[in-house]
This record gives sequence, C-alpha cells and structure tokens, in this order.
Amino acid sequence: MSITVPSTTPATTSLLTPGRQALDSALFQLDQAADQLGLDDGLRSMLSTPRRSLTVAVPVRREDGRMDVVQGFRVQHNITRGPAKGGIRFHPSTDIHEVTALAMWMTWKCALVGIPYGGAKGGVAVDPASLTPRELERVTRRYVNEILPIIGPEKDIPAPDVGTDEQTMAWIMDTYSVNAGYPVPGVVTGKPMTLGGSLGRAGATSRGVQIAALKALPGSPEGRTVAIQGFGKVGALAARYLADAGCRVVAVSDVTGAVVDLSGLDVDGLRAWVEETGGVYGYRHADALSHADLLELDVDILVPAALEGVITEENAPRIRARLIVEGANGPTTPEADRILADAGTTVVPDILANAGGVIVSYLEWVQNMQAYSWSAGEVEVKLRDLMEHSYDAVAALSAERGITLRQAAHVIGVGRVAEAHRMRGLYP
Ligand code: NAD
Repeated sequence: MSITVPSTTPATTSLLTPGRQALDSALFQLDQAADQLGLDDGLRSMLSTPRRSLTVAVPVRREDGRMDVVQGFRVQHNITRGPAKGGIRFHPSTDIHEVTALAMWMTWKCALVGIPYGGAKGGVAVDPASLTPRELERVTRRYVNEILPIIGPEKDIPAPDVGTDEQTMAWIMDTYSVNAGYPVPGVVTGKPMTLGGSLGRAGATSRGVQIAALKALPGSPEGRTVAIQGFGKVGALAARYLADAGCRVVAVSDVTGAVVDLSGLDVDGLRAWVEETGGVYGYRHADALSHADLLELDVDILVPAALEGVITEENAPRIRARLIVEGANGPTTPEADRILADAGTTVVPDILANAGGVIVSYLEWVQNMQAYSWSAGEVEVKLRDLMEHSYDAVAALSAERGITLRQAAHVIGVGRVAEAHRMRGLYP
C-alpha cells in the first residue's frame, strides 16, 4: 500500500484548515525525504502514520458555574527510537491535523539531533487568555487526567509550546504525581527549577536559534539586522541572544501588533513593556508596522517564531531577508520553500533551528531520571555541541547532494528513524 502524500508540491489549499495544511506540508517533506532515501511503500506507510492519536473531551467549570467542553489531543507519531516527546499547545485553532504534523516534525527533530526519543505533540483547543488562572489550572489538570494512560517518563514526556509555560508544566507534574502516589518529575520537562527543571531550559530553544543563525550567517554578526515574528518564549529570548551576538534587532511582532526601529530596538525595554502591557502594541520607542510588512522587511535575518504557514507562495516572492531561521515549527509552506530556494534565500529549517528546546528537555529528563543536576555551563556545552554537530551534518549533506537545508535535515532525520524500524523488524 502506498501512502497518500502528494508527489509534487501540493496545490494551493486555502479551503483546508491551517492544521490540515500543516499536515500536508509535513507529509510532502516526508515524501521528498523518502524519495531521496529510496524507501519502500511499507516503510513510507509506517512513517506517515501516527502510532497513537487520542482525542479527548475536556470539560471545564467556569467561574460563573457554567460548564464548557473543549477538545484536547495527544498524538504519538513514532516511538521506534525511544519514548515519545513533544510539547503541549493551548490555542483556539489547534486540531488533530496540526497536532499530528507537529508530532511528526518532533520525530525527525529528535532523530536529527541524535537524542533517544520519538515524536509526540499535544494540544487543547482553547485560548488561554480567555480563562482565569483557576480555569486554566482546571483545564490543564483535566486534560492531563484524560491523557494520563498514555503519558509517563518512559512512555511520553510533554513540554511547553504555544500558550503553555512553566506553571502549566508544574500542574502536569503534580496531576500525574498525585495519581501515581509519589513524585514523578520525569513525566514532563520545562518545569520550574524547584520541581526538577533544568538550568538553561527556559532559553534553550532561543539559544539554539542563535547558534543556528550564527552558523548560517556568512561573516560577522556585528550590525546584521534581524526581524522576529512572535515575541513569546522563543522569539523574545532569540531577540536577546541575537542582540548579545552583535546583531541589530529592528522589528518584532506578536498577536497584538508589530513595531520597528531601524536603528535597533531596545530588546530589554521592549520585554519590560510586554511584561507590563501584555503585548508589543503601543511601545513608545518604535514605530508601528503591519504584521505582513514585518515579514517582508529588508533585513539580514528573519526569525519566524509564532505559528505555522506564515511564509506562503503569496508572500514568499516579496521576502527580502537573506537568511530565515525557523524558531517556529512549520512556518514555511513547501510552495514558499521552492520560491525562496530559487531566490537564493537560505532557510535553516525548524527541525534543526529550534531543536535546542528538545535537546535541553532531554537533558532535564536525564537529570530527573538520575535524581541529579548539572550546572548551567554543563548544559550549555552539551546544547552547543549537539546543535553545532547537527548543523554541520545537515550543511555537509546539503552541499554534497545539492539539496536545501530542509531536505538534508529530513533525509538525516527520516533516514535514522527508517533505519531503526529496519533493525527492530516488524512484530509479529
Ligand atoms: P508562545 O506562546 O510563548 O509565543 C508565541 C508568540 O507568537 C506570542 O508572542 C504570540 O503573541 C505570537 N503570535 C501568535 N500569532 C501571531 C501572529 N499571527 N503574528 C505575530 N505573532 C503572533 O509560544 P512559543 O513557545 O514561543 O512557541 C513559538 C513557536 O516556536 C511555535 O511554533 C512552537 O511550536 C515553536 N517551538 C517552541 C519551543 C519551546 O520550547 N517553547 C520549542 C521548539 C519550537
């Protein structure tokens, strides 16, 4: 049986949900890698099919006594190389397709950077900003209770993603531990330090973005201009670290708006403003910009760090950044990829550029399983080593085969998972 993936770039599919479009992109990228690797139809089917997909109802008692029911998901795409690993997203438009795509990308990412995990993702279709802190806690605990049978430190280990944070991870750790009857810190990563979190985890994804950007930049980072879409956990610290490296962060955006100052934004001032007001909108020391214009600014580096499918065939011809470093998962569609490649734009793909997060999540889990902790310096050295080593392998394969960095990253990631399947064989 062959898998139902398009063999050429998928046609424009504006009627599909963003989640379905993300899954089509992920399947297209898998298909391209499978062609490069010469995989047979059986393996293609294995790799395109999630091992487990769970959809759950999450009833939540609102403060006024009403009961709402929202949908939650957990998808374990592949567990051939190790337990499933992946974040949990709280976002109103998340659906089973988006979560499946994100889980698939996690599988290739873990294999690419050589950590012994499969890929998973979770989501709850809710806007966390619309809930009170007590409602948010109830949604989190009930969702975790519903997915409890399939998670655990040796089965599937969640982490933060869009709309979730250290507090969410603390509630997950507590809910799981209360059910187990003893503390189980290794069930989740991205925890607060007091509950077994790792030094360096909060900034790990952004540190990885910085490392990947500096690797990909020809020449010195001094004075190179940067625009960042998304000023959340990944984007705000990517701004800080790229500025630390000498770059000039000229524009950032979040869901509230976008701001620009071509002489360079005061990143810490902006972070303080966001802390105070909840968004970049209205920041006094910069000009307002439209969301669309931010992506099309004439900058050296563009870092998409928000959601999927934001660089498309519609806006790709107008993108002027020389280098795109994907902090977000799936920000670039396959059609846009082709346009950018033809224009000579370098794209450091998500499964490489944002792998710093899962690398330090893995280090957190190892520390939890050993009831031990490492210094910030030890964590940083391991993160840098894995990121640089992975980048070099991808860049070398890309040059050798004349393929894009994304294609090379997928050939390595998919190839390692395929090899693991071959070695394990098929039961029964
Ligand atoms: P977050 O919720 O902390 O931040 C998301 C940011 O994007 C917010 O600032 C939000 O306002 C902004 N945003 C949302 N819609 C937007 C729009 N249309 N235009 C501009 N900005 C918009 O989430 P995060 O953890 O920073 O995740 C961001 C991306 O990075 C996601 O794709 C996620 O999957 C990916 N990622 C996160 C991690 C991690 O460790 N948190 C690791 C790897 C990849």
